Amino acid sequence: MTLSASSKAYLDRTEGLNMFVGSCLCRAVKWQIDAVLEQMHHCHCSRCRKARSAAFATNAVTTIDGVRFLRSEDNVQLFLLPGAKYFAHAFCKTCGSSMPQKDAARGRHSVPLGCMDDDLVVRAEHHIFTDSKAPWYAWLGDLPAFASRSE
Ligand SMILES: [Zn+2]
Ligand SMILES: [Zn+2]
Repeated sequence: MTLSASSKAYLDRTEGLNMFVGSCLCRAVKWQIDAVLEQMHHCHCSRCRKARSAAFATNAVTTIDGVRFLRSEDNVQLFLLPGAKYFAHAFCKTCGSSMPQKDAARGRHSVPLGCMDDDLVVRAEHHIFTDSKAPWYAWLGDLPAFASRSE
């Protein structure tokens, strides 16, 4: 595996606490983050809300090789939303928990952070797609909020 300079710096900085492990509800699937997590955000789009059945989804992205499955990668199912350019939902076949999703088209992994078992060295940077926010969800905190994407 080739690590980028930023990933190497990240791992150096986090040495000793670099066991960023995630697992699903039934514990069948387990993975480890091996590279820097970037663009951590809360997404309020209707697709994320439905896929997670939650007020919003908290995700980050990492490199295509930044997620290493420690257990049962073959228990991860991928749902590709018909007609969507990028949206897909990876989940555990047994319990339905959201799983890291390899996005080959964009050369990265999207990582749902609710299933991480450890604290992370990164924090959420902003909210996106607040135009689609659930009307019953009010609190956005102090983070910058974008009506659509942050870019
Ligand atoms: Zn599971
Ligand atoms: Zn979304």
